[in-house]
Amino acid sequence: MHYLDANATEPLRPAARAAVLAALELTGNPSSVHGAGRAARRVVEAARISLALCFGGRPEDLVFTSGATEANALAIHALGGGKDRAGRRVIVSATEHDAVLAAAPDAMVLPVNRDGVAELDVLARLLTDGGPALVCLMLANNETGTLQPIAEAASLCRRHGAWLHVDAVQAAGRIPVDLAALGAHSLALSSHKLGGPMGAGALLLAPEVSAVNALIRGGGQERGRRGGTPPVPAIAGFAAATSTDSPKLAAASTDPTEPAAASTDPTKLAHLRDAIERIAIDAGAVVCSGGAPRLANTTCLALPGVRADAQVIALDLEGIAVSAGAACSSGKVTSSHVLAAMGLGALAGQAIRVSLPWNATAADVDAFAAAYPRMAARLRVALASRAA
Ligand code: PLP
Repeated sequence: MHYLDANATEPLRPAARAAVLAALELTGNPSSVHGAGRAARRVVEAARISLALCFGGRPEDLVFTSGATEANALAIHALGGGKDRAGRRVIVSATEHDAVLAAAPDAMVLPVNRDGVAELDVLARLLTDGGPALVCLMLANNETGTLQPIAEAASLCRRHGAWLHVDAVQAAGRIPVDLAALGAHSLALSSHKLGGPMGAGALLLAPEVSAVNALIRGGGQERGRRGGTPPVPAIAGFAAATSTDSPKLAAASTDPTEPAAASTDPTKLAHLRDAIERIAIDAGAVVCSGGAPRLANTTCLALPGVRADAQVIALDLEGIAVSAGAACSSGKVTSSHVLAAMGLGALAGQAIRVSLPWNATAADVDAFAAAYPRMAARLRVALASRAA
């Protein structure tokens, strides 16, 4: 199997696996006062320091969650229209992940251009009219890899007294992500999207965001900001997965199985991604968001006239794992809201996402080169015979 679906979940990094296995040996609950509890707590607190340092925040401002769906929901609840708050109005970009869109169903929608980049002049107008706002703008899009101008959006928000929440899930581990340098008010992160295990995520808050309205209260863990026993092994693996990604921490990494250059070299991934795009274009595909600054590992390829789910299934049969921007449930294909927001019309139901994992190789590209043109030709023939 050639796994080219890293934006769904990255393969576990060796350093993360080792940290999870070590933490599984611990028995204590981090809230317990005895030695076993304190040992578990040390793991959680070391991870908190390491992750906060990696992503440009303070350890006391990092709240562990179950993943980024919860981190986004907490940010919107805590900083925006949460029930217990006076309520900032929420503005979301049209291409946010469902984790954000579903947490703010009444939000105003910020449009994007044909490459998926948010229209900041429209944001300026929205911020000028109306009361205080919480703006949600993702750093990198999960379907296209498009990078948003976060630093510019942050200064615009600050000029208008608005808060900016950034879903940094797909960017973290792939490009440098630093909350303070971006000037945003919060970042959502997910362990399994950067090579850690599933089951952990974090909301990193800027120092000025002191009061947080908890979504889950429970036992008062995470300084009352998120109740529930933290998943110690997942948190240990989350922090270990970032250790070779952070320039600040790479120097401290002693893991010989995962040299930083091999795991994170964006030039290598861009080279492989460009090769995949050339193969797809030669077979008739259109690259979505090709004109925007993008993540090096991601490409979104539309094949005019051919349903996305048919492409995904055909490639799976050839041993290649990719995903569709368009979701398919109970036989019904729905279009990608991201590509639809970019004005791509019918192509929104005809695009697949190829997202290279940190350990992708030239062999993956060779397999794609063999399978994609065959898949495209076969499905086009099927399409033509149905039309005839
Ligand atoms: N935000 C983005 C951009 C994502 O791609 C995803 C997962 O696909 C999420 C949030 C949700 O992350 P998690 O799986 O940790 O809940």
